Amino acid sequence: MLPYFTDYFGNPSSLNHAYGWEAEAGIDQARKILAGAINADPVELIFTSGATEANNLAIKGIAESYMADGKHIITVQTEHSAVLAPCRYLETLGFEVTYLAVGADGLIDFAKLVQAIRPDTILVSVMAANNEIGVLQPIQAIGKLCHQHQIIFHTDAAQALGKIPLDVQAMNIDLLSMTAHKLYGPKGIGALYVRRRDPRVQLAPQIHGGEQERGLRSGTLNTPQIVGFGEAVRLALEGMTERAVSLKSLRDRLWGHLATLPGVHLNGDLEQRLANNLNISIEGVNGAALLANLQSEVALSAGSACSSASLAPSHVIKALGRSDALAQATLRFGLGHETSAEEIDRVGDRVLQAVRSHRLLKP
Ligand SMILES: *Cc1c(COP(=O)(O)O)cnc(C)c1O
Repeated sequence: MLPYFTDYFGNPSSLNHAYGWEAEAGIDQARKILAGAINADPVELIFTSGATEANNLAIKGIAESYMADGKHIITVQTEHSAVLAPCRYLETLGFEVTYLAVGADGLIDFAKLVQAIRPDTILVSVMAANNEIGVLQPIQAIGKLCHQHQIIFHTDAAQALGKIPLDVQAMNIDLLSMTAHKLYGPKGIGALYVRRRDPRVQLAPQIHGGEQERGLRSGTLNTPQIVGFGEAVRLALEGMTERAVSLKSLRDRLWGHLATLPGVHLNGDLEQRLANNLNISIEGVNGAALLANLQSEVALSAGSACSSASLAPSHVIKALGRSDALAQATLRFGLGHETSAEEIDRVGDRVLQAVRSHRLLKP
């Protein structure tokens, strides 16, 4: 990224001089890497400030474009707030939204999705991988169903990109949201894939101006961030499959430690899941106190990072059918590329120790 802050300082949209061309070349390369990662055409990518903006552009953009065909949208109760909040906003404008429930394993019931489809359904939005419990929804089957019914299919793939294979053709995905910082890239940069043929998706822009990004997202492109995004994706794809195998074995090792505690519940299916995610709820502990005890040694959270200031129980854990008390005693573990077996054992021991002492203190 560094040379794009200084040496290659041109505006990538300035095509009248060499300064612009240098910046444009950096962007083109990132666009190619991203397109390759999801089997898309580079021109089908729209750079945004992150997955929040990509989700807003996808959901509001489709609602505005297709409302003459219908005003019904289907999504899932466990989606990220960057999908749920735009849907709730659209309800205030007269759209109807079906929020599908999930099973105790965090997965949607495919038959319920089929039943929810109506003649006026214009959009189905289902995330590829959940940000709290790592559960992988059956994206390929959902895409096929949507295309059979000529409904636009959007997936929030912020957590899936660089961790599991994604293919917008094979999976019949029309819109796909991404963000760089979930795969070691810079914060504040993301992209939306918008299908250009079979079908050609019509998206109403949400930011108007100088018509950058084919008019779908005006504003000067953030060249250094985009270059960093491309490089992060390139690195994440390198050895992705092998990394998933070793992360899964470390994650299962951590679960092996924690499962020895009485009253521990795994949140989300263990198989249909990102390799680096573990999420548990523990009976008889105060989640906030437990986190406070651990946080000087382990970077843990109860739910999503964005809602970590809130004391409300996670809507994702509640959707699994957990009580408020259990939902509030939740720990989310995210393993990184450099997490070692020694660290896993140390964290496992520390959590067991902290839970035991909390239970002793409880009146
Ligand atoms: C992090 C995340 C987002 C939001 O991404 P930003 O880059 O912070 O806008 C949206 N959806 C999911 C599933 C996420 O994990």
